[in-house]
Amino acid sequence: MVFLGPPGAGKGTQAEMLVERLKITHVSTGGLFRQAIEEGTPAGAEVREYVDSGRLVPDHLVMQLVEGLVAGQEGRGICFDGFPRTLAQAEALDCVLTGHSAGVDVVLALDLPDEVALNRLMSRGREDDDYATARYRLEVYQTTTAPLIRYYTERGLMARVDGNADINTVARRIDDALKALAA
Ligand code: ADP
Repeated sequence: MVFLGPPGAGKGTQAEMLVERLKITHVSTGGLFRQAIEEGTPAGAEVREYVDSGRLVPDHLVMQLVEGLVAGQEGRGICFDGFPRTLAQAEALDCVLTGHSAGVDVVLALDLPDEVALNRLMSRGREDDDYATARYRLEVYQTTTAPLIRYYTERGLMARVDGNADINTVARRIDDALKALAA
């Protein structure tokens, strides 16, 4: 499963709740990068400048991380949160999963207007959430990541959910969208 959506859309919160219900593994690439930076690992040092400035970490570094994770999850479902973020990553993911006789089953896009996303990011106050960086991350989402909606729609995997509501309402919408897709 893949969670798409602009920064601030609530992917992390909703993914957390969903993996609990579905008993699958939650993989947040952003979370893993932040953890590596905090722990001061070599990988953390390599990605720090990207994460801090809101730029995308280069695809080959992201794929290195993901390949290792997928290899350790044989037979168990994964919910990717914040990945893939580029067309190259989406294609590479398909390739990696095929190698494990698996594939992307469903993609959830959480939609949210930019102004609402910005407001949420400003009140969250994470280190890469200063106004200019947050705006830049939104721009990167629109130009580079949003095109994935088309990629997955063409493959019949896409479910879109309006993320502009309280947490429980969005969770219910996600459940409904998943049921509709399975029907
Ligand atoms: P948000 O969705 O709020 O932007 P994330 O935690 O998903 O937060 O990502 C934080 C940062 O981590 C991004 O701005 C980017 O620098 C890096 N990052 C996370 N996932 C990816 C990815 N799949 N490809 C490239 N960079 C990524």
